Amino acid sequence: MSRKKSVELYHRALEMIPGGVNSPVRAFKAIGVPPIFIERAKGSKIFDVDGNEYIDYVGSWGPMILGHAHPKVVNALKKALSKGTSYGAPTSMEVEIANKIKKAFPSIELVRMVSSGTEAVMSAIRVARGYTGRTKVIKFEGCYHGHVDSLLVKAGSGAMTFGIPDSFGIPEDFAKHTLTASYNNFESVKTLIHQYPEQIACLIVEPIAGNMGVVLPERGFLEGLRKICDEKGILLIFDEVISGFRTAYGGAQELYKIRADMTCLGKIIGGGLPVGAYGGRKSIMEKVSPLGGVYQAGTLSGNPLAMVAGITTLELLRAKKVYQDLEKKTLYLTEKISECAEERGIPFSLNRTTGMFTLFFTEGPVRDYHSAKMSDTKRFARFFMEMINEGIYLPPSQFEAWFISLAHTQKNLDKTIEACDAAFRRIA
Ligand SMILES: *Cc1c(COP(=O)(O)O)cnc(C)c1O
Repeated sequence: MSRKKSVELYHRALEMIPGGVNSPVRAFKAIGVPPIFIERAKGSKIFDVDGNEYIDYVGSWGPMILGHAHPKVVNALKKALSKGTSYGAPTSMEVEIANKIKKAFPSIELVRMVSSGTEAVMSAIRVARGYTGRTKVIKFEGCYHGHVDSLLVKAGSGAMTFGIPDSFGIPEDFAKHTLTASYNNFESVKTLIHQYPEQIACLIVEPIAGNMGVVLPERGFLEGLRKICDEKGILLIFDEVISGFRTAYGGAQELYKIRADMTCLGKIIGGGLPVGAYGGRKSIMEKVSPLGGVYQAGTLSGNPLAMVAGITTLELLRAKKVYQDLEKKTLYLTEKISECAEERGIPFSLNRTTGMFTLFFTEGPVRDYHSAKMSDTKRFARFFMEMINEGIYLPPSQFEAWFISLAHTQKNLDKTIEACDAAFRRIA
């Protein structure tokens, strides 16, 4: 399997783009080999510039739940394209997608479209602060909410409970308003809330975590958050940029029957085009300009192409048995992979929900950032390369989710299981 053209492109890219990529994880840093440059994708497969084909489990990090280049999405886009690509004025499509989002998420009464998940989260936090008149934010270690200044923060050590920047370029003055709790640890949340009474504007959480690898909320965790937020006048923000329309049509809120005060969406709702959205209770979202005094705007917000790709994707996800089908595929693949890993004597822990899962190379259980970090990342890097050579394209990091699409066939899944078995044998 030659990757000559990818390597050449990477070297050219390095001369022009920081690290050769437009988003860090694409650089394969955790693997230590040059990234693979993609030429096209169709259904469950992606094809690189050297003509190699792979079964794809990245799915553009979540959006491609229908598979790549779904004919209905492509046709809808072609039609929209001939009508112009952006107007900077309202369209019927924005009404249509807002209606679909509201129907899927009963907790969302008003919704604003933006152009990325980062923008959605950044805006939601601003609204939460504007609405409550408070400053501080609670987030969880291992949850990712885009590259928002105030959320690229890690927990301070020891007696320091306020956050410290997790990236250069973020003033401590911003970071100190962010408090970090441990996922699935309700006590850690309670402690922070008691320490800063009446100062916490919102608590933001991935209700199903996907950015430390898949970590599910334990029984009672989300319910506990809902209850304490109600008691203390704190807004509960669910970041469902990944879980929305993936784990169920109505995301984690449908699955766990919890209403968030505000919800952030992205990925699937753009059908592979750049999109984000944030929404929530009317009384909160009324604070957004031009209704209220919280400013937020976007030249390309509600972009017609993104709306059309999103609307078509959501329509297709409305078909009967879509989520049962996705669940069946996930269950089959993960059970077989687990059996193979066990047989080969590989220590592992597999966390799964509909359409996404992570195979951690640690005995587990993986229930938070700390336990995820126990994984053998060197073994993961070897596994990743074995899988690439078998024609399976995985997320190039241990701490990411594998995404399954509706386009993955039984044959694809069986080939993946065989590849896993061969790879496990070589890395055991
Ligand atoms: C991807 C992601 C984001 C950021 O979305 P972008 O479109 O990459 O800015 C935010 N939150 C979660 C949970 C995500 O997975």
